[in-house]
Amino acid sequence: MPICILVVEDEPEIRELLEFTLNRAGYKVYAVGSAETALAYLHNEIPDAAILDWMLPGQSGIELARRLRKDKITQHLPIMMLTARGEEVDKLKSFDSGVDDYVTKPFSPKELVARIKALLRRTGVPQNNILEAHGITLNMDSHRICVANAEIRIGPTEFRLLEVLMRHPDRAFNRSTLLDHVWGRSTYVEERTVDVHVLRLRKLLAQQGLERLIETVRGVGYRFSPTQNDQ
Ligand code: CA
Repeated sequence: MPICILVVEDEPEIRELLEFTLNRAGYKVYAVGSAETALAYLHNEIPDAAILDWMLPGQSGIELARRLRKDKITQHLPIMMLTARGEEVDKLKSFDSGVDDYVTKPFSPKELVARIKALLRRTGVPQNNILEAHGITLNMDSHRICVANAEIRIGPTEFRLLEVLMRHPDRAFNRSTLLDHVWGRSTYVEERTVDVHVLRLRKLLAQQGLERLIETVRGVGYRFSPTQNDQ
């Protein structure tokens, strides 16, 4: 799966320019014209980053950013704000709302791509669709996993589960957040299903003695912990 970027921009020409520029840089783009449409999209999909225009009809980009930060699924989503205003106070407001970076319009497509790349790198979104930690390599394009240089067979759910955990090392996830990330919000799955798939994932990793990378966090859920195994 290529890195997916949500673009919220009401001016069609700029929206198209963003879509074109980001597609050419290898990103998958979902472009909408309002915060309301973006929220409807986010109900089913979780992008890797979002570019929000400040001035939107209806809910503004800032309001949308605040809302995304309050939602447990999107609270860590890398957000870039597009703004036509250059005043310092506005920039500060923009950071206050949890925005990670901002670009002032008119922007150069080249600069925008560079800034997005930097933002993704900073926030831990994998580049080149490869995730690596502790001898485990996940290739998101081919959906292949190598552990200690040997390819292992893995089901799609275990793959996605490991991907979500590995993208956020040392972060404890509760079962309901994992369900939303792995199965999607619109699917109804019982929380114990998570435990079943974690068990399967640990069995796969146990072939290389790496099952302890998936830690149980008492009273919370699970976390990918690449450091504690070095003890
Ligand atoms: Ca606008």
